[in-house]
Amino acid sequence: MYESIYDIDFGLLWDDGVRHLIFDVDNTLISYADSDVSIQCINLFKSIQSIGFESIILMSNNSSVDRIERVAKQLDLPAITFACKPFVFTMRRLLNDRSMNIQEVALIGDQLLTDVLLANTFKIISVFVDPIDTSHLSYLKNAQYSFQRWILQSFYRQ
Ligand SMILES: [Mg+2]
Repeated sequence: MYESIYDIDFGLLWDDGVRHLIFDVDNTLISYADSDVSIQCINLFKSIQSIGFESIILMSNNSSVDRIERVAKQLDLPAITFACKPFVFTMRRLLNDRSMNIQEVALIGDQLLTDVLLANTFKIISVFVDPIDTSHLSYLKNAQYSFQRWILQSFYRQ
């Protein structure tokens, strides 16, 4: 588990054979309160791209096409909105359409019950990051993060 995307060693992922990166957007790249990515984020993706990954794709459960397309445009990356993680159909279509080898894919996200669960279903590498900001959330999102904290605490207590 990483504190943020800036702590991930993408060179190491490359060395481990990862060629395709799939990123969650909300609370992984930007907080729910933001609509623009930071310069730091843009620079990170430039450096990730320079490593040579074959695909870097944003995959969000957010149904706001405007929001996710805006982020995608700022980072100059393709994006999938309303992906319905952890359900498998969007990921399955993506893997098939791009003929990705599952062993070469890593999914980076901040939620156990969507991102990590989806990655585990496909036996894809998951890179779990702390959510950027959990202070301005809807009731449902709050409940999801509370449940996630509870799962993590139960796990680490053992
Ligand atoms: Mg998220």
